[in-house]
Amino acid sequence: MISRRDFLNGCALSVAAGSAISPLEALAQGALNPYALPADYYPPTRQGLRGSHDGSFEAAHELQDGRKWNAVDAGDPVYDLVVVGGGISGLAAAYFYRKQHGPGARILVIENHDDFGGHAKRNEFWHDDRMYLVNGGTLNVEAPSQYSTISAGLLWELGIDRTRYFEKNRGMFSNYRDMGLKSSMFFDRETFGTDKLVVGWGDLPIRETVRHAPLDEQVKRDTVRLYESKENYLPDLDAAMTRKRLTHMSYRDYVVNVARCHPGVVQLFDADLMGWFVTGMDAIPAIYCRELGYPGFDGLNLEEISTDQLANEPGGQHGRENQERALEGDPDMYFPDGNATIARLLVRSLVPGSVPGSSMEDVITSRVDYSMLDREERGARIRLNSTAVNVAHTKNGQVQTTYVSDGKAMYVRSKGAVLACWNGIIPYICHEIPQAQKDALLFGVKSPLAYTGVLVSNWQSFMDAGISRVTVPGGFHASIGLQPMLEMGSYRTARSPDQPIVIRMGSYFAEPGLSRRDQHRVGQRKLLATTFDTFEHHIRDQLTRILGPTGFDDERDILGITVNRWPHGYAYSYNPLYDPEEWAYTTTADRPAVVGRQRIGRITIANSDAAASPHTDAAINEAYRAVAELGNG
Ligand SMILES: Cc1cc2nc3c(=O)[nH]c(=O)nc-3n(C[C@H](O)[C@H](O)[C@H](O)COP(=O)(O)OP(=O)(O)OC[C@H]3O[C@@H](n4cnc5c(N)ncnc54)[C@H](O)[C@@H]3O)c2cc1C
Repeated sequence: MISRRDFLNGCALSVAAGSAISPLEALAQGALNPYALPADYYPPTRQGLRGSHDGSFEAAHELQDGRKWNAVDAGDPVYDLVVVGGGISGLAAAYFYRKQHGPGARILVIENHDDFGGHAKRNEFWHDDRMYLVNGGTLNVEAPSQYSTISAGLLWELGIDRTRYFEKNRGMFSNYRDMGLKSSMFFDRETFGTDKLVVGWGDLPIRETVRHAPLDEQVKRDTVRLYESKENYLPDLDAAMTRKRLTHMSYRDYVVNVARCHPGVVQLFDADLMGWFVTGMDAIPAIYCRELGYPGFDGLNLEEISTDQLANEPGGQHGRENQERALEGDPDMYFPDGNATIARLLVRSLVPGSVPGSSMEDVITSRVDYSMLDREERGARIRLNSTAVNVAHTKNGQVQTTYVSDGKAMYVRSKGAVLACWNGIIPYICHEIPQAQKDALLFGVKSPLAYTGVLVSNWQSFMDAGISRVTVPGGFHASIGLQPMLEMGSYRTARSPDQPIVIRMGSYFAEPGLSRRDQHRVGQRKLLATTFDTFEHHIRDQLTRILGPTGFDDERDILGITVNRWPHGYAYSYNPLYDPEEWAYTTTADRPAVVGRQRIGRITIANSDAAASPHTDAAINEAYRAVAELGNG
């Protein structure tokens, strides 16, 4: 049996061995490449508290508190381009730059985490010599048919072939349903007075499920009424005014004050959209919920948005347009490690020899050689564990980037720089930016959330409960579910419940009652103050209470835990409850994202914040723009 203490450092798991080199070789390589990582460096298998892990953010926080560093020359040659941020946007910027300037372009990517990919991180578990993967952050290629020519083109160039992907994985999101497993809701005693799992919630008609819920009779009646309503709750308003009202009122307000339901009804929805907005229904516009198919709107006289509105905006829109239209075309694509696959493909292309193989299938199981990432002889280099603290033009028109690594400050010079890091840090590292632009960069607040992967030895308890996923309003983890069934080359997720699988659990840090941005600010502090022990306690407690009755035993079944905390998660997207309506519905130039991303001499700005869109295609599009703005110089 594995005791819970064993988890902290992942001792319970066997880790694939790194490639060995002789001490003499290591010495010679070290002299030539002082920044090269050791051959056994392999962060994807690290467990415990990952995501924004300890050691990754301290220098940035000290910078914000006013700390200054004396830097020495890193000793590198002058680069053509320095990219700050090794997420998908930063890696894509390096890719586009090299494409434009040729393979001889000298590029350095500086990244503060111990792994590349930004939010698109990979968690890799090993058990009995088998690899089990899960996304540590960025999950899906959402609405891939809506990707721009630039972002779809990049995925294609990297070898991502949608047709081939869907040949094997079209049933990915329906396999469990085909096995008879359903969605469910867990009512916990802290919130609802008693623990109760209601199977079929979300799949079966509400009349059938709500009667099993431990809810007040009035809440049950109002819930059914809301779902079945054909009433026009806003009879005095014409179609355009109805849309306006719904745009400026929260779904909570709508359900409680317009549809006159018991406040307990809203509680049933509060956990649903946490995965997108990281707030409850008090901070989500009613119109977004209508577009996403929430109940209570069928009887309204309501104007639709025009068909070309938002047509060229990245991502699945998350309620800004009708869900069917937003997701037209191929369904989402999910790789076993999420969009870390894209990051790995970018690195394979940028640093030849670092990621063995040649296809989107073999990249899934290939082991990255991190020792190759930062070598003098490579055109593109990726320097991990390094936080940029200053980016400034020199007198001779170059750009000097100072970064802190292991407490020491060093600088490199380049002909240009792309800041593909988060908007919130840019004003602190680039003092040349005018104040109005700094204010715009600081406008958005990224959302705090944690994605946890739990490797379990089997999922028989899910089978016996008849569920594949569960929503937990009021619970520490609001969403819990089995990883989708996938096949990519030699990698295949479990098909049989006696095989190990990774359970995905999401927790969201919100503060109801405040504006969306303030909810995120408070949530960031709460998340950073939450220890691994607290996460682990809730993982074990929730899984035991939900699945214990069907045989789940945390001591016996859990094989590994990786918590990915993202205090600075999704890019802030505009919300008409708090921001001007046009910011949410148009691409006007006065939006803070546009004001903030203006070029400063030889320094340009990428990353998904620059599009105010929490999507991978936004990150790629912005990288393309930022590189184009540097021109041919
Ligand atoms: C949990 C989670 C799930 C998500 N799921 C999806 C999804 O399913 N689909 C989707 O399309 N999008 C999703 N996203 C959104 C995701 O942010 C984008 O898709 C995309 O990965 C963003 O890429 P980026 O490069 O712009 O930003 P990031 O991935 O955040 O990369 C920026 C990098 O810059 C680094 N950095 C910041 N400051 C500095 C500094 N001073 N020096 C050096 N480095 C610095 C950061 O640490 C980070 O690694 C998700 C995000 C999160 C957090």
